[in-house]
Amino acid sequence: MAKRADELTHLTQDLIRIPTLNPPGQYYHDICNMLAERLARTGWQVELLRAEGALADSETYPRWNVVARLEGTRPGECVHFNGHHDVVEAGHGWTVDPFAGTVRDGKVFGRGACDMKGGIATSIIAAEAFVAQRPDFAGAIEISATADEESGGFGGVAWMSERGWFAPERVQHVIIPEPLNKDRICLGHRGVWWAEIETHGRIAHGSMPFLGDCAVRHMGAVLEEMEEKLFPLLAEKHTAMPVVPEGARQSTMNINAIHGGAPEQPEEYTGLPAPCVPDRCRITIDRRFLIEEDIGDVKAEISALLERVKARRPSFEYEVRDLFEVQPTMTDRDAPVVRSTAQAIEKVLKRAPDYVVSPGTYDQKHIDRIGRLKNCIAYGPGILDLAHQPDEWIGIQDMVDAGTVMALVLDELL
Ligand SMILES: [Zn+2]
Repeated sequence: MAKRADELTHLTQDLIRIPTLNPPGQYYHDICNMLAERLARTGWQVELLRAEGALADSETYPRWNVVARLEGTRPGECVHFNGHHDVVEAGHGWTVDPFAGTVRDGKVFGRGACDMKGGIATSIIAAEAFVAQRPDFAGAIEISATADEESGGFGGVAWMSERGWFAPERVQHVIIPEPLNKDRICLGHRGVWWAEIETHGRIAHGSMPFLGDCAVRHMGAVLEEMEEKLFPLLAEKHTAMPVVPEGARQSTMNINAIHGGAPEQPEEYTGLPAPCVPDRCRITIDRRFLIEEDIGDVKAEISALLERVKARRPSFEYEVRDLFEVQPTMTDRDAPVVRSTAQAIEKVLKRAPDYVVSPGTYDQKHIDRIGRLKNCIAYGPGILDLAHQPDEWIGIQDMVDAGTVMALVLDELL
């Protein structure tokens, strides 16, 4: 891997120079094609897959994915490296061009450097280094670069999982090189439930509010019940999952938005608002739950809270709408891919790995739930805090070290 450091740097730069921004999801075909051509040259079987009909797929912005497979000389298991090729917007505050792939002080800078084009490049170079040393390996290696992880993965890993690409019959080990740091193994993530709660009232003239029913006051009562009963309860629910940062080692809930009453007027409107009793108020909640919790109980907690409010407010009516949910997942520490990665980290870095769980979800959710494959981790170079930030970078030595770990994992499993 050390000998291939320059090649690894160049590949990372080449990937950064294709600005695969999501949204809207652009240049997906270019990046997939570039990877396909590179891998096909050294004997990999490559397939470009468009997630036709998936969420956000369109003729203007088709959702392209690429999968490459290299068969060994003997039967065996398949190790799959999966990285998302999409990146989030650059945003402001950069001191270098976010899409130039600038190299300085042993780091490659750019949007997607750590999240996660550096990780994709590392897994490719690691696989090539391994194959050069062990041309007679057993089983198969797969590398995929997939779309839309930053917006839920529906045109990427979810679409591929639905079509059997991650079925345990064909893939036995999955490593997602997200930037969790070269000495940490990420076993999974907490669960998510997004929902919209709407309180109902009745519109009337603001000078005679007693003739109407104020939906915002009803929502106020809901929020008060959350402050007094729900948030303290969530803070008490601790998990055995090693979630980082530590503040997320409990149940949490965010209120993402609140809307009620007359819509906000455009900035150029200079008049006063009209006096109306609001008849609708809505909040969006983002509840993150633990492996120890059941999603049915999580939802029942909210229903019970709303029923308590209803008991005190005779005219109170509400609706709860599910928006999105993902089950928590945590791969067993004894799973083969975890054990091999842990051993390799000890060999390369001369220390035991940290086992972590992510507070938010990533593509493992689809591999686990749709693909039914449990032997999956996130392991890759890069510092997670730099993701989505200005001047995002990845350390070249970190990539070399993580790549050495990946190559040793291949050596062990194949
Ligand atoms: Zn990522």
